[in-house]
This record gives sequence, structure tokens and C-alpha cells, in this order.
Amino acid sequence: MFDAAHAYRCTHRGKRIGSFGACEVLSFHATKVFNTLEGGAVVTNDDVLADTMRLMRNFGFAGYDNVIHDGTNGKMVEASAAMGLTNLEALSSFVEANRIRYEIYRDRLADVPGVELVLYDEREENNYHYIVAAVDIPSRVTRDQLIDVLHAENILARKYFWPGCHRMKTYTGTAPTVSLQHTEQVAERNIVLPSGPSLTVDDVHLICDVIAFACERGIEHP
Ligand SMILES: *Cc1c(COP(=O)(O)O)cnc(C)c1O
Repeated sequence: MFDAAHAYRCTHRGKRIGSFGACEVLSFHATKVFNTLEGGAVVTNDDVLADTMRLMRNFGFAGYDNVIHDGTNGKMVEASAAMGLTNLEALSSFVEANRIRYEIYRDRLADVPGVELVLYDEREENNYHYIVAAVDIPSRVTRDQLIDVLHAENILARKYFWPGCHRMKTYTGTAPTVSLQHTEQVAERNIVLPSGPSLTVDDVHLICDVIAFACERGIEHP
């Protein structure tokens, strides 16, 4: 089973997302490249698994009064489906807008010391939805300082996905039970930068100016 939450309309090694593993789970949440406001999908080539998922989507009901499987209320509401159909029509234009913004970030940040944009593999089909920058360790600004600078300029960059689930009390109890060094190294460095059609190209240039200014100048330590 693969978490393909935000990989809609991408390929991996030349093959479209949707048919890897026993099943893939996609998110159609409002923050994803294809959204139905809320919702998602499980995609599989396994007919038995597909039938089971259909049962589970509707409380495990196989006809009236006959629950044959455990389940949940996983049905998509009409308004969400309508939103999805509308977004499907616009998807190509969203991807194109994302690509244009990604390329500006890529070109503008190429020579900025201390940050590295995570580059898309151009041999693949990409949705260019996430613009991920990794802050070097050490560098003149830490990742958290750069986030603070961006937030002070009302630029809503985010730490993604930090802290990892293995560091969240809800999942670990009082003490972390596993050590995931690689996850932590990545999670401590990453920033996700704003993108999408509602962000103007001028805004992207402005964001790059702020990043370049902070990274070149550094933050004075009190
Ligand atoms: C968004 C996301 C999810 C959760 O999707 P929901 O539709 O909000 O449940 C899970 N995994 C990853 C990697 C995501 O980005």
C-alpha cells in the first residue's frame, strides 16, 4: 500500500501513479493539486480489494439489515464531487501555473547560498505542486529563522512534515520509540514555499528576493 496523497497526475519511473503496490491512497483535500474540498480515493487493480473497499465505504452493508464487514462512512458528498469535476477541467492549467512558478524559483534560487531547491526529475510527468527548499546545515540562517523571516513578510512558507509522526506524543506516548535519522535530517531542513495559480509571478520573485536577502546576509544572533 502506498501513500500517494499528493502525487496525482505524476509518473514514477515513467509509469503513472495509481497502479503501484496492492493499492494507492490519494488525497483530494483542498491543499492538494486535485481537490474535491475533502475526500480522496483508494485505487487498486485488485477486484477483491476493490469490492471490500466499496463495502467498507458504506458501513459494511451488503443490502438492508445485513452488515458483513466492518466499515465507515466514507462516501463522497455531491458538492465535493461537483468540485472535483470542475477541478478536473482546470487541472492542466493548474499544473502549468505550478510549473511556471517552480521554474522561477529554480532559476532564482540556483545561486543563493545556503538553500537548495529540491528539483523535479524532468524525465517524469510532474504536477509541480510542492516547491520544496532544503536549508543547508550549517548556513547563515537556520531553517526556522528563514521561516520566521518569511512569516514576518506575510509569506506563508511551511515546515513540512515536521515534526515527524514518530516524534508526536499522540503516536509515541511519552518517549519516541523509533529513531528515524534520515527522516529527521530531511524534516529539519525542509521548507515548502508558496505556489499555485493565485500567487502571481511577481510574488514569486518577491519571495525569492526575501530568501536571497536573508540567506546572503544571515541573521544576527543576539
Ligand atoms: C495530505 C496528506 C495526507 C492526508 O490526506 P487527507 O485527505 O487529509 O486525509 C496523507 N499523507 C500525505 C503525504 C499527505 O500529503
